[in-house]
Amino acid sequence: MKLIALPAFSDNYLWLWQQDQLAVVVDPGDAAPVLQALAKDGLTLAAILVTHHHADHTGGVHELHLATGAKVYGPAREEVPAPFTPVMQGDAIDLLGQQVQVIDVPGHTAGHVAYFLPRATPHPVLFCGDTLFSGGCGRIFEGTPAQMLASLDSLAALPSNTQICCAHEYTLSNLRFACAVEPGNTALQAYTAKCHQLRDQGTPTLPAQLGNELQINPFLRARHPDVRHAVAQHAGLSALEQTDDVAVFAALREWKNNFK
Ligand SMILES: [Zn+2]
Ligand SMILES: [Zn+2]
Repeated sequence: MKLIALPAFSDNYLWLWQQDQLAVVVDPGDAAPVLQALAKDGLTLAAILVTHHHADHTGGVHELHLATGAKVYGPAREEVPAPFTPVMQGDAIDLLGQQVQVIDVPGHTAGHVAYFLPRATPHPVLFCGDTLFSGGCGRIFEGTPAQMLASLDSLAALPSNTQICCAHEYTLSNLRFACAVEPGNTALQAYTAKCHQLRDQGTPTLPAQLGNELQINPFLRARHPDVRHAVAQHAGLSALEQTDDVAVFAALREWKNNFK
């Protein structure tokens, strides 16, 4: 299968998953770049997947649905601006010869879902919207830190060769924060250098690879002693709070929110 990151707005990627002459688009915040890509390669849009209700992920859904008749799938607990099939944890959809598994990942929004393709080749693929970014995670707008941590835990448990299709190019700014949290992490330093090179060439840093994220992403490493220690120092956590995974994670997210 072929994955294309269509840039939109200032830093969104609309992911187009292509198989032969068929395509599926994830989170089309804008219809224009998708219609352009379909026309350019003579593709038929088979389906539209939506991870959460934010406008930069749904703004083009209605127009694309009208223009192509593609079926829309979206989170059961959120609104999508077109007729859609609601999906939730445990659901599986068959699309373009692939099984697409739905994972509930509340936190960024209350009903956010992710789509996982366990049998994609050459590697499993995850479309995670604004839940997990390379080097970071989504802001917690509607859920709680406990929910976001549990959501990230369920994504972290996927196969380590999973290709993660995040919805924003936030990598470099995330890595700047990650380096402040873990200045001694050599894998993080090497990955940062690689991502700078990619961005200098105008290339997306995505998809990210889960195995690498587990080495460099502080939000997937909130239980690592180095991260825990750095957060405790920064936020002045008590000895008791330092042993509370959710308290550490919440303080880490708060640190990032205020990081300049
Ligand atoms: Zn969002
Ligand atoms: Zn977004």
